[in-house]
Amino acid sequence: MEKIKVFCPATIANVSCGFDVLGLALDSVGDEMTVRKTADKGIRISKIIGQDLPMEAEKNVAGVAGLALLAKSDYDGGFEIEIDKRIKPGSGIGSSAASSTGAVWAMNELLGNPFSKLELVQFAMEGEKLASDVAHADNVAPAIYGGFTLVRSYEPLDIIPIPTPSELYATVIHPQIEIKTSDSRKILKTTISMQQGIQQWGNLGGLVAGLFQNDYDLIGRSLHDHIVEPIRSILIPAFDDIKANALKAGALGSGISGSGPSIFALSKGEETAKQVAESMKKTYQNIAVDFDIHISKVNSQGVKKIA
Ligand code: ADP
Repeated sequence: MEKIKVFCPATIANVSCGFDVLGLALDSVGDEMTVRKTADKGIRISKIIGQDLPMEAEKNVAGVAGLALLAKSDYDGGFEIEIDKRIKPGSGIGSSAASSTGAVWAMNELLGNPFSKLELVQFAMEGEKLASDVAHADNVAPAIYGGFTLVRSYEPLDIIPIPTPSELYATVIHPQIEIKTSDSRKILKTTISMQQGIQQWGNLGGLVAGLFQNDYDLIGRSLHDHIVEPIRSILIPAFDDIKANALKAGALGSGISGSGPSIFALSKGEETAKQVAESMKKTYQNIAVDFDIHISKVNSQGVKKIA
């Protein structure tokens, strides 16, 4: 195979109680990338559609992640990449992670799969480091494995794929403001109290158990974040109203997607996810905030070949 086209899913990181460790992949929102083998060594980004992003490989997360893979490969050539960017950067649904993931996953396919999923996560994390100064894995892991993933540890990197109940849907609303991950990290405190810790790991354990047991009520009871959400939500227009109205419309839970400004809600079934979308839309229409909105099943496959 000389050329491949891939779908690179958007992802929701943190998922309320799983700050920096939990993430999930979406199905209906993502970028598309075409990657070709070239005789020339290195990586060339030949085209970017949809967004104004750097074309130099060293300044684009796709290039940086790809170069990390090439550095560990004995392949003698290089790659050319085209990015059809559908996820807006800075939206909080893993725009940079989609590009990093798509690049390394596609290259691995073209090379006959010499690298494991865990190694691909490690290469893609180099792209995340370029985007936000921190080599975090909570978006790239679900983009590669699909479904929900838990980053149990960074040293050594230990990714735990978590099964996803089949009727779980996400609704994500993106108010049209941009928050850089690096900025939304700066406002966080560096310490938490014992009481906050106890609440958070109780909820995280509950959420993981709920996902394993297909227990939607337990998932809903566990979707709380008393540490990061109260601080970061201040940056997001009408966060409290969007969340309260989503819950009223039947969502199991709602919170900040990644570092925001997108807000997600999880629901049982597509019908409820649509009603949640309606309630979120109305909330922003009433106060004249422009937005994008997505409804998606949780994607159990992750990045995939489309041509
Ligand atoms: P997100 O959480 O949506 O990925 P970030 O703020 O973490 O948003 O990352 C976006 C940053 O990464 C922007 O500064 C953007 O210019 C940079 N970037 C570099 N290459 C890419 C790419 N291929 N896709 C998206 N963002 C990129």
